Formats: sequence, C-alpha cells, structure tokens
Amino acid sequence: MLPIHPNLKGKVAVVTGGGGVLCSCMAKELARQGMKVAILNRTLEKAEKVKEEIINQGGDAIAVPCNVLDVDSVKKAEEIVFREYGPCDVLINGAGGNHPQGITTKEILEQEDLDHPEIATFFDLTTEGFKYVFDLNIVGTVIPTQIFLKRMIGKKGTIINISSMSAPRPMTKVPAYSAAKAGIENFTKWLAVHVASVGIRVNAIAPGFFLTKQNENLLKNPDGSYTERTKKILSHTPMKRLGNPEDLLGTLLWLVDEQTSGFVTGIVVPVDGGFLAYAGV
Ligand code: NAD
Repeated sequence: MLPIHPNLKGKVAVVTGGGGVLCSCMAKELARQGMKVAILNRTLEKAEKVKEEIINQGGDAIAVPCNVLDVDSVKKAEEIVFREYGPCDVLINGAGGNHPQGITTKEILEQEDLDHPEIATFFDLTTEGFKYVFDLNIVGTVIPTQIFLKRMIGKKGTIINISSMSAPRPMTKVPAYSAAKAGIENFTKWLAVHVASVGIRVNAIAPGFFLTKQNENLLKNPDGSYTERTKKILSHTPMKRLGNPEDLLGTLLWLVDEQTSGFVTGIVVPVDGGFLAYAGV
C-alpha cells in the first residue's frame, strides 16, 4: 500500500473517463488518500460502479455523466462538481481511446496488400475514424481543461493528461491514436507554460502497455491468449510484463501533490517497464 499524502486530504479530484480501467484505479487511490473524487464518464453506470466501490471503502465520491466532447455536457458536469464539492484541485484527463477505422491490419504495407480488400491498409482508414480518435484524445482533453481550469486558477491546482508510448515513437497500426497522443504531449507542454504563473502545474503520464477494454482486441486473441503483437511488446519491455493499473499510482501521487512535485511542470513521465529506453538490441 502506498504512503498517505496528508496534503491531498479534503481536496477535490475530477477524473474524466473515471469509469475505465486505468482511471478508476486512479480515482480509488485518490479517494483512499482522502480526496473528494468526482468520477466523470460518458456511460454513467461505469462511473456509478466506481463510486459505489469508493463509498464502500469509506471514501467520498460522486458519479457524474459527462461526454468530454460535448461542451454543454462538460459545463453541466462542472456545475454539479462545484455545487457538491467546490472548485476542482486536480483534474485528470483520462477519457481516451482508439477506433477500428483508425487502425491498419498490418504493421508494414506490402504492394500485394492492395489487392486484398480484407486487409485494411492506410488507404482504407476513414476520415471519421481519424476524427473520432483525434476528438476523443485531444479535443476531449481540451474541453474539460477549459471548463474546469477557470475555477482552479490561483489555487495551486494541477492537471494530469494521459499520453502513451505511441507519442514519442508512433506505434505501428495505430496512426490516428499515435498522432493524437503526440498532440497530448505537445499540448501538455504548451499549457504548462501558459498557466505556470497563475499557480497551475500541468504534466502527463505515459503508460506503457496495460491490458484494458480499449486495446483488448490488439493485445488478446478471441481465445484469451496473447497476440503476436503482445509477444513483441513483452520482448521489447525489459521488465517482461504488461503493466497493472496500480503501477501508475506512485507517479500519480507524486505529480498531484504540491509538496512532492511543486516545481515540476510540463513533463511526461513514462511508466512502462523500460519500453521507451530499450532500442530492442
Ligand atoms: P478504458 O477504455 O478502460 O477507459 C476509458 C474510459 O473513458 C471508459 O470508461 C469510457 O467509457 C470513457 N469514455 C470514452 N469516451 C468518453 C467520452 N467521450 N466522454 C467521457 N468518457 C468517455 O481505457 P484505459 O486503457 O483505462 O484508458 C485510459 C487512458 O489511458 C486513455 O487516455 C488511454 O488512451 C490511455 N492509455 C492506455 C494505455 C493502456 O495500455 N491501456 C496505454 C497508454 C495510454
């Protein structure tokens, strides 16, 4: 169990995508630290489930329906959070993901692939697929940031964005997701500079490979065994395993606590078992 950060007690955390695998784990830890946690999710039932778990453990949480792509929905969510808990101290922009129409079948194009309609090449990806992924990952971070940040100004609040290993070096098959996450890292640095003098720190966590809903089809075969891609990932991860959501929590607590990272802003922390450092040889 991680040490308690007394500085976090009573503060307000807002977690978008808080019903998902990685961010529900973050929400539960922040609640265990004594924070009031608002779990925002497009599918309310998923947020409700996390809220119940937190409350059963003696924590304080609310579940709020919120589509991070819809300004009115985020404004409504912000009003609910403000009414229930007051202004946000920590915003985690966790909602994100991929889309099948932004994914190629193969890693590298071969000319004969063009004669096989069952193989999705770059030419088969749709604008809708790209737009979905760009919107969800980038616009879905920008909108909640605009709407929650205003009342955070002057409070020493902090924002955590979620990047990916596909940002520094684009991952095969997922061009839309890779470009979108590269955009997240860029935006994190831009915003960190823009708001540094009003007391806000902005950082990102770049998880390595964690088995969750959004990447299940890429990492597991229908029979539950690991795909060739997962085997490749593991052979490029010096620690030789996929991440567990709990692996992110130490970094999260360090970054959200003003006492432990008060002079840290504009960085991206990889939590990846060494994947980024390894050249593969
Ligand atoms: P997940 O699918 O379990 O969680 C995502 C959550 O976001 C879901 O609860 C979903 O309902 C919610 N959501 C989707 N669209 C939404 C919208 N428009 N408005 C509000 N909520 C919405 O996925 P996860 O793996 O836990 O992903 C969390 C974050 O971590 C994402 O940004 C993802 O890109 C990133 N990430 C994941 C991995 C990994 O290996 N799983 C690696 C690197 C980065």
